[in-house]
Amino acid sequence: MESQIAGLFLNTSPPDSTPQPCRDLQECIQVVEAMNLKAFFDERYHKCFKPCCLDPSHKVVHIRGNPPSKYVLPTGWCRVGIKVSDGIANANNIWKGWHVSFHGTTHAAIPSILAHGGSLLFPGDKLLDGTVLGIREGHIANVKGAFTSPTVRYSSLPVYAQRHTLPDGRTVQFVLQLRQAPGTYRIQGETVNWKRRNGDTPIDPHFSNNEVLN
Ligand SMILES: [Zn+2]
Repeated sequence: MESQIAGLFLNTSPPDSTPQPCRDLQECIQVVEAMNLKAFFDERYHKCFKPCCLDPSHKVVHIRGNPPSKYVLPTGWCRVGIKVSDGIANANNIWKGWHVSFHGTTHAAIPSILAHGGSLLFPGDKLLDGTVLGIREGHIANVKGAFTSPTVRYSSLPVYAQRHTLPDGRTVQFVLQLRQAPGTYRIQGETVNWKRRNGDTPIDPHFSNNEVLN
């Protein structure tokens, strides 16, 4: 799978209804600053996707890439913009040609993922600190490939985006936003035993449960 990380989405609890200037976004930026990740920021793309800041007439489903592919706007989340090298973006035509997807991850994993250069690692790859990236519970054993989804609703399931507790006792989840090269991944059904517990209820109403995993 060929990919490029383009953002980091955070969802703190409980939701905050403070009007603009958005306190939730400031708070999410502070969470990531406390993780010593400011060097990776691209402040132009910090954005709140919660009702406090979204235009009420916003489009939910968007199309990106060539061939076109849909993704769902991550409403309810805040984005911290992540720097993308202009050289890499232009050489691969990332912004016009690649698809948008999301990758749920953990507070502990983010620093090494970002330090690795902005491309998502595959389970089994060695990280800079020498540890090997594992496949966590809920994923299919021995299947090589990073797990991404065109909807944050699937990527943020707790099996992927484990809740991290902040010093004040609230929790936060982390989901990376990516661009993925068309043709380098395969669309698949959910692998979290959703059907056994929830039947045919869609994880995201804009997708069948057979097409939520890349
Ligand atoms: Zn806001």
